Amino acid sequence: MSRLAKLDQQYVWHPFTQMLDWLRQEPIVIVEGRGTVLRDDQGREYLDANASIWTNLHGHQHPRINTAIRRQLKKIAHSSALGFANEPASLLAARLVETARADQDRPGAPAHGAASHNPTLEKVFFGDDGSTALEIALKLAYEFTRRTRGAKTKPRFLSLAGAYHGDTIGAVSLGHIDLFHQAYGGMLFKTDRVMAPYCYRCPFNRAKPQRDDARNYRQCDWECVHQVERKLTTRLKKGDAYAAFVFEPLMQGAAGMIPQPDGWLPQVARLAREHGALLIADEVMTGFGRTGSHHPTGDTRPGGQVGNDAFANPGPPAGAARLFATGKAGVAPDFLCLAKGLTGGYLPMSATLTTQAVFDAFLGEYEEFKTFFHGHSFTGNQLGAAASLASLDLLQSPASVRARAELEKHLHARLQSLWSLPMVGDIRQVGLVAGIELVRDWRTREAFPWQERVGIRVCAAMAQRGVLTRPVGNVIVLMPPYCTTPAQLQQMINALAEALRGMR
Ligand code: PMP
Repeated sequence: MSRLAKLDQQYVWHPFTQMLDWLRQEPIVIVEGRGTVLRDDQGREYLDANASIWTNLHGHQHPRINTAIRRQLKKIAHSSALGFANEPASLLAARLVETARADQDRPGAPAHGAASHNPTLEKVFFGDDGSTALEIALKLAYEFTRRTRGAKTKPRFLSLAGAYHGDTIGAVSLGHIDLFHQAYGGMLFKTDRVMAPYCYRCPFNRAKPQRDDARNYRQCDWECVHQVERKLTTRLKKGDAYAAFVFEPLMQGAAGMIPQPDGWLPQVARLAREHGALLIADEVMTGFGRTGSHHPTGDTRPGGQVGNDAFANPGPPAGAARLFATGKAGVAPDFLCLAKGLTGGYLPMSATLTTQAVFDAFLGEYEEFKTFFHGHSFTGNQLGAAASLASLDLLQSPASVRARAELEKHLHARLQSLWSLPMVGDIRQVGLVAGIELVRDWRTREAFPWQERVGIRVCAAMAQRGVLTRPVGNVIVLMPPYCTTPAQLQQMINALAEALRGMR
């Protein structure tokens, strides 16, 4: 075992990892990366098929981002946002507000999501990671609700079944992954859970399994939307609206790469608004182009529509590239939480965007104590902000827009070959993310018991074929950096197909 691997095993405690398993085998020690390729200390190369846990956008060692960080480093790496402004953070805040606004304003943006109220995001609060981005939104929404509805109000939050919004106590409280809740239940505050659309395993989906994304052949009456409506109405009847509805737009990541059928998000966003709730969009995974340029087409299947307008989605003109899933869906949130890809996946940094109304609720004379009492040592860090600005330049360049659209098409085309494998139950692609759900038998959707660790074993077999990713349960995640070539994409698919063929 190499010296670095030994040191790791002796001293490092890894996240979300059973260390007993970890200590049983030699770890891969990454020492270098370029583009989609990672290299370990033995000189072996791997493809970064989950973009280093969903963070990397343009590839490793991108010359533009490297240069931006180097240039910033020659000025200063960090000074505190407590008491001082700084150059890249000011520029980045303006750029994020402008980008979010452009996303909402693009011609063709459907208006239904924001039917009664169309907030614009005007202010940016920087944090360190996805969890703190959500924690900040949560605290702001909590206090905003108390200040606007009265201090006696007990703000309550609604979020989706299976939701994951981070690991801090507030973020875990917003989540609904039982495994985490069992451990920390005593420390969490109560939030309400509502059914999330999960067409492949939806109890209301009457369709038999087919060799297609379950969203395309589902047979239902949008019961998942009605469940949200019921929850919102019940809360109102109890005398108080939810403070906020919290969601990942278009696809829930850690829940198992669960995509929402076209039309779901605008419908529930509108309902939440009508029932007095703010919208907190967690775009930690979905932001910065991840959900692609292809626009939802609306639900055109007979029997698949709810209400009379069916929320048909006109879509943007060809070539328009929205960076956020909420923009794509035509939903205007009150809080937009960004992290992971914000810096292009280079540095830990987050941003929580919110409205003038929320900001104003915290304005007051010093002695009124209306201040938002929250902040971190590295809030608004210069290196992170410089990397983010360079990443946004890249994202908005025509070359990147074209490359992402191409990659999305290639991903779609290549994923189709996996349907021939009986262990593949569902293939769910949203833009540049794919979740492949593995089952014992696709005809019955029978799940593998967790004890068999199928996802983990498949990913280990893929690693042996030079492709690194991490499963979510029995769902294999493919989330290529945007610079991934068609040949590299094919290598990812081949590694997965071979790994599946080798399973017993
Ligand atoms: N929200 C979502 C949707 C996420 O996927 C994650 C991380 N996987 C988080 C929040 C938490 O982000 P972080 O790990 O950066 O704290």
